[in-house]
Amino acid sequence: MDEIPQFVQQVMEELYAPLPRQGPGSPASTRKAFSMLGPLPEQPLILDIGCGVGAQTMELAGLTTAHIIALDVFDWALDAVSEKVVARSLTGRVHTTKQSMDAMDFREETFDVVWSEGALYIMGFENALRACRRFLKPGGFLAASELCWFRDEPPAELLSFWRHAYPDIRSVAETSQLIADCGLELLGHFTLPVRDWWDDYYTPMSRLLPRLREKYADSPVAVAMCDECVTEMSLHQKYSRWYGYEFFVCQRPA
Ligand code: SAH
Repeated sequence: MDEIPQFVQQVMEELYAPLPRQGPGSPASTRKAFSMLGPLPEQPLILDIGCGVGAQTMELAGLTTAHIIALDVFDWALDAVSEKVVARSLTGRVHTTKQSMDAMDFREETFDVVWSEGALYIMGFENALRACRRFLKPGGFLAASELCWFRDEPPAELLSFWRHAYPDIRSVAETSQLIADCGLELLGHFTLPVRDWWDDYYTPMSRLLPRLREKYADSPVAVAMCDECVTEMSLHQKYSRWYGYEFFVCQRPA
């Protein structure tokens, strides 16, 4: 994965670290996906890839007595998770690890569950599926949300935005087929509701943007980053029937 320039990282931190989540999702959707898993051992081992500030990590900790490894590449995300872990007395059971998802150093067949909300696109969903399958115990589960087209022939302005922002975006049917091609059985899937994009993600982000834009008014790079967020939000307002996040729940065959 390409190295992100230091300045871009700094703006990203100021833009994303204060948000309750770093991508679309909600406690209700985490719980719904969790309810679609099959039976788990009494104290399963869960890997949460691209955990951000840990919204879904904390939900999973509340739903289970699992040991959870929360993985992210940025210190600000992992520090926020660690704070929550201490505040909720979860130190014995929730651990953080700073690793890039495309170079994870776990042994094969380690985890009962691999979880990832709004993050696997970063390493490419196909690469991610293959890596997750390797790290899952036979019979283990993968729950991951992924951006998908919901309809054919998207409007040109939407297509051109996502062609640039995430050229790998597939339809729900293509993503389901990819999951099967990567040796995982699809147990079920559902669409994240529109409010999952706004309540803890776009709405708090839109409140932050004016301040950031003012602070970095002299930096075309930072202003372009803010502009891209605004464009993404307005496209979602207009076209959420065309695309969105689909939560996929799968199993590595035993
Ligand atoms: N799951 C969280 C965050 C999703 S945003 C939520 O739904 O709120 C994607 C996350 O992936 C961010 O926290 C980002 O810091 C992290 N990330 C970006 N590149 C990464 C990489 N190469 N390896 C691991 N995590 C990465």
